[in-house]
Amino acid sequence: MIELHSVSKHFGGAAAVEDFSLRIEAGALCVLVGPSGSGKSTVLRMINAMIEADQGKIELRGQDIRSLDPVLLRRGVGYVIQSVGLFPHWTIRENIAAVPRLLDWSDSKVSARIDEIVALLQIEPSLLPRYPRQLSGGQQQRIGVARALAADPDIILMDEPFAALDPLSRANLQEELRRLHARSGKTIVFVTHDMDEALLLATNMAVMHKGRLVQSGAREEILLHPVNDFVRDFFGREA
Ligand code: ATP
Ligand code: MG
Repeated sequence: MIELHSVSKHFGGAAAVEDFSLRIEAGALCVLVGPSGSGKSTVLRMINAMIEADQGKIELRGQDIRSLDPVLLRRGVGYVIQSVGLFPHWTIRENIAAVPRLLDWSDSKVSARIDEIVALLQIEPSLLPRYPRQLSGGQQQRIGVARALAADPDIILMDEPFAALDPLSRANLQEELRRLHARSGKTIVFVTHDMDEALLLATNMAVMHKGRLVQSGAREEILLHPVNDFVRDFFGREA
């Protein structure tokens, strides 16, 4: 479903991602883990064609992303960015409706979808006419997830979406994400540097260190058979 072939990205001569290859099957919930600065966000941004790889190739559903119109590509990929990034001058309702509007959905279809997503993510409907600054950080984060899901994309990229939440809201959203994944069969790439979160959510994991993929595979496989000391120490478990 998502394939990265020997992808590299440099910023000003320094490698952010180096020779990175990974295959993410359709319907997987793949958690990309690694310490701060290891290149996780850069990988997500390349999959979404927000930045271009210097080397290598990325394929979505077997198609080279360079051959796809980036605007069309992004409409098929929901993306929750690391810092929420709601449009400040749009109401919550308008924020959630952003991609469906781009896709020219009818007003009634957009409305029905907003009702559905608000129920799914347990968003208080009274928040819809408000502006992002009038919401708490946790509420904004939930809206960021709603916006990414609104147009029902097959692929959802989430960059530390729950990082700023209090433990209870975080646990709630993690549980909702698990249910959503189990029910929808969507392909989700979830970035976190929180080990507990990775272990809770993942069907598959990919561990990054200094721009490189260190190990990828089923969650249990990585826990039971870490390839090196870095992976073993990262998960804080004995092999
Ligand atoms: P974090 O967990 O802190 O979010 P990360 O794993 O997402 O980290 P990236 O944001 O992908 O890491 O960054 C990887 C490296 O690339 C870092 O050294 C970072 O400073 C560098 N980098 C990322 N984006 C840019 C940019 N636009 N310009 C210059 N350097 C960048
Ligand atoms: Mg990041």
